[in-house]
Amino acid sequence: MSILIQNVLVNGDTGDIRIRGSRIEAIAPFLPPDPEEEIIDGTNKAAVHGFVNGHTHAAMTLFRGFADDMKLKPWLEKKIWPAEAKLTEEDVYVGTRLACLEMIKTGTTLFNDMYWHLPGAYRAVESMGLRAVLSAVFIDQFDEKKRKEQIEANLKFLDEFGGKNPLIQIALGPHAIYTVSREALEWIASYSQEHDLFVHIHLSEIQREVDACLDTFGVRPTEYLKEVGLLSNRLFCAHCNQLSKHEMKLLIDAGAHLVHTPVSNLKLAAEKIFPYEILKVLQASIILGTDGCSSNNNLDMLETAKFASLFQKWQSSDPTLLPAEEALDLLTGEGYRAFRIGSGKIEPGEVADLVLIDLNHPQNVPLYHLESNLIYAVNGTAVSTTICNGKILMKDNVVPEEETIISEARAVAKKFARMLSES
Ligand SMILES: [Zn+2]
Repeated sequence: MSILIQNVLVNGDTGDIRIRGSRIEAIAPFLPPDPEEEIIDGTNKAAVHGFVNGHTHAAMTLFRGFADDMKLKPWLEKKIWPAEAKLTEEDVYVGTRLACLEMIKTGTTLFNDMYWHLPGAYRAVESMGLRAVLSAVFIDQFDEKKRKEQIEANLKFLDEFGGKNPLIQIALGPHAIYTVSREALEWIASYSQEHDLFVHIHLSEIQREVDACLDTFGVRPTEYLKEVGLLSNRLFCAHCNQLSKHEMKLLIDAGAHLVHTPVSNLKLAAEKIFPYEILKVLQASIILGTDGCSSNNNLDMLETAKFASLFQKWQSSDPTLLPAEEALDLLTGEGYRAFRIGSGKIEPGEVADLVLIDLNHPQNVPLYHLESNLIYAVNGTAVSTTICNGKILMKDNVVPEEETIISEARAVAKKFARMLSES
């Protein structure tokens, strides 16, 4: 099976791209079509590498707009956690399908997820054809019985789903140091090392988390992660707003990956935001994430990149910080390299994860610098075609099953709407 994208703007020139199987085979000013291949007209389109969402909870699309404009503690304890307690595996399947639909429509081809009912999420991602790293939320609340149950559940998921689909990797997802015991973190550290598994954790989102760690363990959160053996190049840390210089050095020396989630941090009013300026100088591995739809409220990576760039400029009083080209690389190259999938570039031999951007979109006119338009002008609605692993998931804005996915999500959301009316 091969696909030929003709007359498309790619890597600064207009030409053709041939995809064969799961990889890009050739890029040239003109490629003669094969009789059997699918032709995509790339006129007035730009081919860009698919985006990476480095931190999300996909099925939380079901809680989009469920509870906004609240402080973090009551928001979690009174709204989000009671609603999550009512989620079933089928709900997670439906919510994750909605998330995948949104990601396909806005150009994301790879996402790093942590959520409940992993089998539901797995089935959903598999049905939609995206690339994902899935972890079950690991929370034991310092309870030995819960710890054993969680370890068993994770081993079961790894046994059932690990290595089954080359597009979906199973990772370990310790929620945070304030919800997971030292013993569990140590088990996760050694098991992930033994089996070369990625680990996905929330780290230093707010000051209270740092203070509690200092009070309980006498060290800062990253120092605690080092003590339990979790610092490695398999570790993905979401938020990282409150890092000391020493913590930054520990993370960078270990090769850990830091996920900047600007929209969620702004919405929940974190006291500080990701220290990009220093981390960039120190050559940290940085990617961008949305967080869940309850604190964002969408999964649009172009919007997230704009927020990241603007907020970092504002925070540093430096409009040259995080320029468009660099922001685009955080969305593509950095993430693909961090997850060891490729260079994140559109080149022969690389995985065929790419999106076509509509250059007739009003926000794309005129076009002096593509990167500038992508980061500052358009959002995900400018994506017209999405290809992942050589398969077309959306062509000319059409995703098969879109109506079914939306109506199923609306039906599930009725359950949560009832909770709101009763509260
Ligand atoms: Zn999160």
